Amino acid sequence: AKETGKNNCQFYTREMNESIEEKLLLLDGLRGALEASQFCLLYQPKVDLRTGRVFGVEALVRWEHPEQGVIGPDRFIPLAEESGMILGLGEWVLRTACQQNRAWQDAGLPPLRISVNVSPRQFEDPRLVERVQHALNDSGLAPEWLELEVTEGVIMRDLQQAVAKMAELRAMGVSLSIDDFGTGYSSLSALKSFPISTLKIDKSFVRDLGRSDGDEAIASSIIELAHRLRLRVIAEGVETEQQRGFLRENGCDEMQGYLFSRPLPAMQLAEMLMAGTTR
Ligand code: C2E
Ligand code: CA
Ligand code: CA
Ligand code: CA
Repeated sequence: AKETGKNNCQFYTREMNESIEEKLLLLDGLRGALEASQFCLLYQPKVDLRTGRVFGVEALVRWEHPEQGVIGPDRFIPLAEESGMILGLGEWVLRTACQQNRAWQDAGLPPLRISVNVSPRQFEDPRLVERVQHALNDSGLAPEWLELEVTEGVIMRDLQQAVAKMAELRAMGVSLSIDDFGTGYSSLSALKSFPISTLKIDKSFVRDLGRSDGDEAIASSIIELAHRLRLRVIAEGVETEQQRGFLRENGCDEMQGYLFSRPLPAMQLAEMLMAGTTR
């Protein structure tokens, strides 16, 4: 609705104050949330597009807020990043994911690779490699069953250092993938020097597959690029048969999305895999 400039201005000012207040409140709650065990992980299956087999899961964090209910990571990961709390939270995620994966293996589930998101500040932490090593040692999980998802922007900030760090992780036996590929600015020539195994096509390019020539061109180009670099390629946010059909026809290796499964609690994921309800 068209209001006078003045009214609009006051309106926006008030909204902004409210959201800053809300942020401060969340930030305050975030401080004690780890100790109060208010975080939990959900696990979303990753599926091989040719065989339909679940070969891995991505760990996705949730905050069970005592008053607000379940809060998604888009609302608190940026706050945790800004405040530095991401280091503690990230370490909890890493350790919990490794422990959970080992527990599934001990329970007799077919071995899965677990993917953990690593935020910029976490990736830049000089102790990251050490922390990953500890999480593996303490859980007893073999490194081949752990993957870290890193965004391109993080790597491009300090290319040499990032590549050295990735090489260290790779040498440990941990896999690396580039998350949200195509959304950041990345240098294609740098890509060939990354010791990574997978590119992940961002869901913004997947949404309109079957409807948008532009997005189809982007998705199929990423698939071809990945294969030329001998990388695997996964599409996230796959919701429809049409999207899956396009991806399969264009040689995409793996997919993840609501079409197959939403992110699930550990118990439900195990039940699904035990029941063999793969499509
Ligand atoms: P992301 O890494 O790009 O994760 C994909 C997001 O897409 C997840 O949102 C997932 O639940 C959602 N998704 C999965 N399938 C579909 C689908 O078919 N359609 C649609 N529309 N969405 C789908 P979520 O769980 O809310 O996570 C949002 C972002 O928060 C993640 O984006 C990631 O960047 C960050 N995040 C989540 N967990 C962690 C964590 O443990 N550590 C860090 N540092 N970041 C995390
Ligand atoms: Ca991710
Ligand atoms: Ca994404
Ligand atoms: Ca993301």
